[in-house]
Amino acid sequence: MAGFRQELVALFGQPVEENPTQAMIEAAFAAAGLDWRYLTIEVAPDGLADAVLGARAMGFRGFNCTIPHKVAVVEHLDRLSPAAELIGAVNTVVRDGDELAGENTDGAGFLAALRRRRDPAGARVVLLGAGGAARAIGVELALAGAAALTVVNRGAERAHELGTVLGGLVGELRVAELGEGFRAPADTDLVVNATSVGLFPDVEAEVPFDLGDVAGRALVADVIPNPPETRFLREAAALGCETLEGLEMLVEQGRIGFRLWTGAEPDAGVMRAALRRAFANPS
Ligand code: NDP
Repeated sequence: MAGFRQELVALFGQPVEENPTQAMIEAAFAAAGLDWRYLTIEVAPDGLADAVLGARAMGFRGFNCTIPHKVAVVEHLDRLSPAAELIGAVNTVVRDGDELAGENTDGAGFLAALRRRRDPAGARVVLLGAGGAARAIGVELALAGAAALTVVNRGAERAHELGTVLGGLVGELRVAELGEGFRAPADTDLVVNATSVGLFPDVEAEVPFDLGDVAGRALVADVIPNPPETRFLREAAALGCETLEGLEMLVEQGRIGFRLWTGAEPDAGVMRAALRRAFANPS
């Protein structure tokens, strides 16, 4: 029992107004009977070093980083997990004694959600996007034994950068340009939209990918958490594909962070419900 003193964790990012993580994590603290607080803090790029020093001085148990700090935070930490090292970005920081350790739970969260439906080992995957989320998911899929990965991105340069990261990790790797000319291999088991297309408020934006090529066969996943049921997933379901919402990835990466900070197991149902409420009633 900490008396009147609460344990603190936080989110550092800019902008942060739309970020629902506090609603999810504080609901889980309450359900677990923990007198902890999760603060949503706007930190400008030139304030990040001071913010990390402040977190150290005030004994924060850890913090999340979001845009634009996921890469920049690395130089302010004492060590990185192997996955964060490979991904080159950190979304979760954990205090361990006097040290701050950087983790990346985005890809691991996706994998945890996926594993409840399909075994990633041996999977043949089409990964749409080559930004931070795609990189985290690509690395974790490769480490989990995916047999083939096709990275498909609008910008060729970023696609090739990700291809270079994944090259030594996966048996079959292809890089392609996202657009009308791309055809998914007929034996694709999993398609992941890891672009930002479809994120609220641009909910009718269309991912330029022909789902007809994988109809009735592939599991189709989206990283977009809001809205949970994206246009891309609606179209996949109409074509007979099983679907996986980005909200599940968000819950799972939050569960991993909660465990790392508190050592306790959070209630996933409480976290999911809090997120759905937050998305239905944006502040
Ligand atoms: P980045 O900015 O790093 O990457 C964005 C990606 O989307 C790039 O591949 C970019 O392509 C592509 N893209 C953007 N606009 C278009 C477009 N109009 N047409 C085609 N491709 C496009 O963002 P992140 O990777 O960090 O985040 C991506 C999404 O993932 C966000 O919406 C975020 O909310 C979500 N996310 C979800 C999480 C969850 O837990 N559910 C966790 C983390 C992120 P290009 O390289 O050509 O610009």
